[in-house]
Amino acid sequence: MPELPEVETTVRGLERVLHGRRIASVEARRPDLRRALPVDLGQRLTGAHVTSLGRRAKYGLIDTDRGDTLVFHLGMSGHWRVDPTEVAKHDHFIIETDEGRKVALNDARRFGSLDLVRTEELAQWPAIAALGPEPFSLDPRDLKRRLAGRSAAIKLLLLDQRVVAGLGNIYVCEALYRAGIHPKRAGGSVSLERLQRLVVAIEAVLDEAIAAGGSTLRDFASPDGELGYFSKKFEVYDREGKKCSCGGLVKRIVQGGRSTFYCPKCQR
Ligand SMILES: [Zn+2]
Repeated sequence: MPELPEVETTVRGLERVLHGRRIASVEARRPDLRRALPVDLGQRLTGAHVTSLGRRAKYGLIDTDRGDTLVFHLGMSGHWRVDPTEVAKHDHFIIETDEGRKVALNDARRFGSLDLVRTEELAQWPAIAALGPEPFSLDPRDLKRRLAGRSAAIKLLLLDQRVVAGLGNIYVCEALYRAGIHPKRAGGSVSLERLQRLVVAIEAVLDEAIAAGGSTLRDFASPDGELGYFSKKFEVYDREGKKCSCGGLVKRIVQGGRSTFYCPKCQR
């Protein structure tokens, strides 16, 4: 499942093809993904210039000079293919630029989404308005206030998009490990000093993953490149029973229906 670093890498890859270009044509190959595509999608995008690309949480944003933002979410299996040599199964939406380059949104499971939102109304768009701060602009004191009085496990609170936007299971496990915080600790009981370490750890694990993704960007400069998926090495994630650098063994528990990996020696 794509997490924030994959979405960020995808946006940077799409930027190389789309930024500053005019959209010559769009092709919606089915009427819906997770929900219906906007009926006027083609009409509003065709002929528009792409002025900028960005990301909010796990939403990719493509702005046009008509005041629209194409908002995409990759869901469980979505990815963009760059300059596909032919249309593949599950290519649901294709953009062609005035340079003749193409990007195709491919999503076998169709949990992804495409929406067209007026750029000036984006901050009030319900899915985005509900989001907490970005993990790269977290303030430890603000995080402390958001967690105050909360008895739920810090692991689950960090996955709550209203507390922090865009953090997924893998990076929450890794950041808690680096900060030495036990995943079951009550959110409200984590000291400011430890939250400061946590904020640093969150930025570091995401930065490293984005850097790893960035180093794969050259691979999809060629036709049929796929954006956004890359292998990463983790210290605790998916390493149950393996050795931590302290000599202890990584443990797996289930929280909120999802696996948590941590080191019982290093995390308190
Ligand atoms: Zn350890």
